[in-house]
Amino acid sequence: MKKNLLVSACLLGVNCRFDGKNEKNQDVIQLAKEYNLIQVCPEQLGGLPTPRAPSWFIIGDGIDTIKGLNNMRNEDGKDVSKNFRDGAKETLKICKLLNIKNAVLKEDSPSCGCNKIYLKDKLVDGVGVTTAILIKNEINVMSENGIRSLNKASIPN
Ligand code: SF4
Repeated sequence: MKKNLLVSACLLGVNCRFDGKNEKNQDVIQLAKEYNLIQVCPEQLGGLPTPRAPSWFIIGDGIDTIKGLNNMRNEDGKDVSKNFRDGAKETLKICKLLNIKNAVLKEDSPSCGCNKIYLKDKLVDGVGVTTAILIKNEINVMSENGIRSLNKASIPN
């Protein structure tokens, strides 16, 4: 029986990005041969509309957001930290419900980034809010870039 793998919905071609577009990635889609791909968009789960104003961190990264710091703003200057926290918590609930231990999430996103996030207009080292909550709960997270250099045996079961 195939195991469940959490995936950022935009990587599967869902038009859930802030600008109403997607990040369709054939390498990720191919993972459906080996896994049940469970698609989520944490920002939508957090109550944000699509399309929406882009958001970024003003200090720190997702680790600080899940600790309760209101460190996220959207392009209009609105504090959207709670939306991002809510989306991360909903995503974690899905993982627990479906016994998901691994995730492939979209790099650079304020929710899904695994190595890089935007601090204002600069791309810096850090993790998104959903990535932070998943890692804290011992779920293995990798980016779409990570899987390109891996063979399927490298994705933990
Ligand atoms: S929150 Fe994640 S799944 Fe949703 S559009 Fe952004 S990167 Fe994609």
